[in-house]
Amino acid sequence: MKLNGNVVLLIILMMTALLLFTMCDNGGPAPENCDCADKGHLGIGETCNCGKANCTCTLKVYGEVVDNGSLGEIKIPIYRQGEVTDMATAVAKVIDAYGGLDDATRGALYGKIQEVRIIPGVTTASRSVENGKFIIVFGEERSMNGMRQYFNQAADNVDELAGGA
Ligand SMILES: [Zn+2]
Ligand SMILES: [Zn+2]
Repeated sequence: MKLNGNVVLLIILMMTALLLFTMCDNGGPAPENCDCADKGHLGIGETCNCGKANCTCTLKVYGEVVDNGSLGEIKIPIYRQGEVTDMATAVAKVIDAYGGLDDATRGALYGKIQEVRIIPGVTTASRSVENGKFIIVFGEERSMNGMRQYFNQAADNVDELAGGA
């Protein structure tokens, strides 16, 4: 029997498929899945160091600012960015700071803050814009009053969000 070009091509394709299948099959033991018990344990910019397949670990929400505005309740998550010493204290300060804002300020900020991040060891405050909302970054050493003052400053500058910068 004489092989024409199509048959030869078909044989080559079948052998290639067989080879690929064999290579996958002999690729060692099946990868282990991530076994972190608590999936939500990451700070901003971190990846899980389990080194395993199918890792679904996510950002840890250390606390939330709850705002019961006229349009319904919203929650602003508070994340860690870096090796913060005392997240519990920092989170309490953020919640107190926001909770003490006057009605006009809360109205101005309502729905305008995507998240709050805490960074280690400094007293700074800064903000950036993402998806038309503020990301507020506080140093963990910033005082509660300093955080409140910065929320007020952000409320006075919500026009920054329109530019989407
Ligand atoms: Zn993990
Ligand atoms: Zn993992």
